[in-house]
Amino acid sequence: MNNIPANLERINNQIKNACQKVGRNPKEVKLIAVSKIKPAEQIEEAFHAGQKYFGESYVQEFRDKQPLVESPVEWHFIGGLQSNKVKYLRGKVAMIHSVDRLSLAGEISNQWGKIDQVANILLQVNVGDELSKSGCAPDDLASLIQSIAPLPNLKICGLMCLPPHSDDPEQVRPYFKQLRQLSQQIEKLQIPNVEMTELSMGMSGDFAVAVEEGATLVRVGTAIFGARIKKV
Ligand SMILES: *Cc1c(COP(=O)(O)O)cnc(C)c1O
Repeated sequence: MNNIPANLERINNQIKNACQKVGRNPKEVKLIAVSKIKPAEQIEEAFHAGQKYFGESYVQEFRDKQPLVESPVEWHFIGGLQSNKVKYLRGKVAMIHSVDRLSLAGEISNQWGKIDQVANILLQVNVGDELSKSGCAPDDLASLIQSIAPLPNLKICGLMCLPPHSDDPEQVRPYFKQLRQLSQQIEKLQIPNVEMTELSMGMSGDFAVAVEEGATLVRVGTAIFGARIKKV
């Protein structure tokens, strides 16, 4: 049995401890509960235990599940995204973490334009340079951001990464450092309409290390809701 409230309390304490270790204010870190494959009832249960932010990875699942969640949760889209599905997210998600190409950004701006709103996005960076992973190559990031920044109905809020998996969080730490350094480099360019306030990094196995390295958004699924049956 998974005790969602107890898991949330434990994770929030671990975030606080990681912040204390490096002298950060825990208020700078948002816990995003990754609820993909998990039913609406578990989202409600987490909300009633004080969890406000939820992350989803699959557009179709989000479309089906979002209307079933009555509590005023804040949705984040964190998964791979095809341009033709952006319309199903329009106005419903507070942030899209997984933007890695101009064409996708253009469609997000186009869709949010239809409701006269601005979409908050993060640029996903392929820090491990893995062939299997989406995300912009670190070397291409600055020029991608330069090309996306002028789009009218978008705001670039920061960076996201999904580093190579390791059971040892210390093996992942260099990738978190790399994402933070990239964000500092981009910030120096002073590109209009670009803020580097958010760093979305860290999952169930390594979120504490990510917080030590500057994460402002940690995306935690398994440690809150238990193992997922479907492979991701
Ligand atoms: C599934 C997923 C997570 C959460 O992973 P856990 O190991 O279950 O915490 C985080 N980020 C992304 C992009 C995901 O797809």
